[in-house]
Amino acid sequence: MLNERKPIPVTEAIQRVCDQYVTGETEYVHLSDAYHRVLAEDLLADQDVPGFDRSPYDGYALRAQDISQATDKNPRVLEIVGHIGAGSVYSDRLEEGQAVRIMTGAKIPTGADAVIMLEDTDMFEDKGIPFVSVKKSVKYHDNISFQGEDIQKGTALVEKGTVINPGITALLATFGYAEVPVAKKPVIGVIATGSELLEVDQPLEPGKIRNSNAYMTMAQIKRVGAIPKYFGQLTDDLPESLAKMTEVIKEVDFLITTGGVSVGDFDLLPEIYQEMQADVLFNKVAMRPGSVTTVATLQNQILFGLSGNPSACYVGFELFTKPIIDYYLGKQEVGNQKKEARLAVDIAKNNPFDRFIRGTYSIEQGELFARPAGKDKSNMVHSLATANCLIQLPGGSSGYEKGSQVTIHILE
Ligand code: AMP
Ligand code: MG
Repeated sequence: MLNERKPIPVTEAIQRVCDQYVTGETEYVHLSDAYHRVLAEDLLADQDVPGFDRSPYDGYALRAQDISQATDKNPRVLEIVGHIGAGSVYSDRLEEGQAVRIMTGAKIPTGADAVIMLEDTDMFEDKGIPFVSVKKSVKYHDNISFQGEDIQKGTALVEKGTVINPGITALLATFGYAEVPVAKKPVIGVIATGSELLEVDQPLEPGKIRNSNAYMTMAQIKRVGAIPKYFGQLTDDLPESLAKMTEVIKEVDFLITTGGVSVGDFDLLPEIYQEMQADVLFNKVAMRPGSVTTVATLQNQILFGLSGNPSACYVGFELFTKPIIDYYLGKQEVGNQKKEARLAVDIAKNNPFDRFIRGTYSIEQGELFARPAGKDKSNMVHSLATANCLIQLPGGSSGYEKGSQVTIHILE
């Protein structure tokens, strides 16, 4: 079987997966559930914001010309004809010599053309009538938040495919989106394979290990914004595995299996794909870890055969599964964000394949640096916990020196 496998470059493997992309549907969710979902329609302003001229301060709405000569020593006195808080309106017209006591956010009364702040005034009463003594002048249109000064009607605000953040949530609320059009989350099936696997709640037994991949992968699926559906773990038994996969594929948009894609005696996935008549897009990628990562299609579905080795499984998901989920969701950004960084340490290397090292990046004196997160063998799990990036080291070089420029794939 190994002889039949031709390694292809990582970029080509990613391209082959992305060429298959399937796009999802739109659904509506309540605004309070929209955080972190992908907006499925462009967001356009169908009204001005603010929708009316309003006061940005607590103070008095008045006519600027009435107090143009006002100073501390020579204050001008206006009659207070109304008192409005945010949400209230003064329905009469403000006339010469009048002022309306106005609180932040309240609508500027007709006839008023400026606001003086509370701290530049004194209030008093004379024969039961309230007056304000103004100690400063203001100019025409001073201290008014004008209609549309924040957002003008018709402005394109957020493009579809954007992940909804708290700020976008505020815009959606501002424009009355009680129900928000978002991309429907794909359901991604997860199956772990391997006769050595114990479920997480089982005590350890000789020769056995706990299945960590399934839970790791489900967390990765959630991180991308999809729904994981766990179908349990399978022993390395061909008929059982084939039956299970054939059954569950109907219930999911994509299916991930971990393990069994290598060339060992009990690696059954290649045979299962054959039996299912799936089209294998590739079964060998020029990368470490995860060179045996296999992706196949079956009608509209994609089967991701991720390696059993935990970090290879992790990397395989980030490189191949994440982009396709992003596509499905219609995201603007597909795949992990990439940045250029400098290596903080030497990394010896003797590998013809590209390496993806679990790394941590940090900003030091304004520059981005990356270093390995820990031990980097593909069967090791520890360094996955602290990794916040994958450091990509192109194959074929004898090693990389501290300070070399490298590409990192940001994980969070
Ligand atoms: P495989 O790809 O099936 O040959 O597995 C490669 C290595 O990964 C073996 O050492 C397996 O025991 C280990 N492995 C396979 N599946 C899992 C899993 N779900 N969780 C943790 N380790 C696994
Ligand atoms: Mg196995």
